[in-house]
Amino acid sequence: MDNQGPYPWQQQSWALLQKYRERGRLPHGLLFNGPAECGKKHFALRFAEGVLCTANRSEDGAQHHGRACGKCHSCLLLAAGNHPDLVLLVPQEEKKTIQVDAVREFIQDATLTPQISDCRVCLIMPADAMTSEAANSLLKTLEEPAANNHIILVTEHVRHLAATIRSRCQIVNLPLPTQQQSLQWLQQQQPQQQWEELLNCAAGAPLRALSFEKSDIMQRRKQLFNSFAALIRGQQAPLAVVAAWNEEMSELLLKWLYEWTLDLLRGSLTGVENMRDLLPGRELSGLTPDLDAGQLIALIEQLVSLNRGMGERNLNRQMQLEALAVSYAGLTKR
Ligand SMILES: [Zn+2]
Repeated sequence: MDNQGPYPWQQQSWALLQKYRERGRLPHGLLFNGPAECGKKHFALRFAEGVLCTANRSEDGAQHHGRACGKCHSCLLLAAGNHPDLVLLVPQEEKKTIQVDAVREFIQDATLTPQISDCRVCLIMPADAMTSEAANSLLKTLEEPAANNHIILVTEHVRHLAATIRSRCQIVNLPLPTQQQSLQWLQQQQPQQQWEELLNCAAGAPLRALSFEKSDIMQRRKQLFNSFAALIRGQQAPLAVVAAWNEEMSELLLKWLYEWTLDLLRGSLTGVENMRDLLPGRELSGLTPDLDAGQLIALIEQLVSLNRGMGERNLNRQMQLEALAVSYAGLTKR
């Protein structure tokens, strides 16, 4: 894979940013927004490296299409992890938040004059990790940035950022690839693997599918599906199922439940032959005529709102999962 450029499915956003650069109009505040595992961090770092690369500014810079050359002084410093004009702000390891002190220190660095490159690139990843106090302390710098400095915020929860932050940035959306793009890319990484089921298991995120390749995830998904099926059939109590659900990473679990529920709805409304996911299609298809479409739709709405609340810190996840499990158990009760 080409390390110096974006992933193939990010080409459009990349080209847009390069257009801004070529016209000398790259915004000082940028907000890279996209779902989990879409490659935001990769994109942000490759973009920053390209902006800092000193070969990019010369006449023949256009031939790099905004990619870092990998050879200049700037690129060598980046490779050594030692570039004075790249400023990174990430949560401290044990804490998941970015505190106000860290942002104040960051602002000091972010407003210095560039030393090696033409500008300074300052990255905050993930931006939604900033406490509200921390985010507030950033406002003035976003409003009146130092010349030649760019601040890039990276997030998958854009709605969790204050409107005052969002409005001061140019938002660049980074989507997940289509299934076809994903499979093509995965095939290139590892031609021997059967990727379709792993990609499905990874809820359509190819980077996640790649990381699953040598894991026991398919087995875990099957186990979770079995408890899901037992719950709907009334063979297992909701609380016992929640205990199993709690052990799985929450975001994926919700996506799987969403897919399975959607498939049950498909089966119930349009017939078993239209179910797409192999698991419910094979094992729960006999049940679908008895399921109430209205209740399934309500469950899907419940899953969507639960997924939306995932990044919120005060969410009582246990209670929400219990409510969900009880609703599933009630699906086949008459
Ligand atoms: Zn370079």
